[in-house]
Amino acid sequence: MKKLEMRPFKKILIGLRARLQGDVNALADAALGSTAEAQGELSSLPSHLADLGSDTFEQDNTLRLMDNEEVVLEQIESALERIENGIYGNCIECEGRIPKMRLNVIPYTPLCVKCANNLEDDDNWN
Ligand SMILES: [Zn+2]
Repeated sequence: MKKLEMRPFKKILIGLRARLQGDVNALADAALGSTAEAQGELSSLPSHLADLGSDTFEQDNTLRLMDNEEVVLEQIESALERIENGIYGNCIECEGRIPKMRLNVIPYTPLCVKCANNLEDDDNWN
């Protein structure tokens, strides 16, 4: 892919990264904040003890979401690196061209459709 063609994708990736980084920070604040809040409320409002179970459950979901976002963030970072190196848009497995249609949907994907499917098949067999 030509540098000029990479430019819009770079813009999208940087925007996506900023949003995700903001989200991850916000989620971390929310996860930590809810704990402090629950502890603060415990001393003044003993009736909240009954809600602690659901609070813990919600917190777990928040942290799990953060995990996924961190994986995406890593993929965005390496996609930006591939743009810098001029190899963005090439599959890291077979070095074939990743169709723009696919990059429009998942701009941070390192794999073409074929290799992504192959990897999924491997997962199923293992
Ligand atoms: Zn491939």
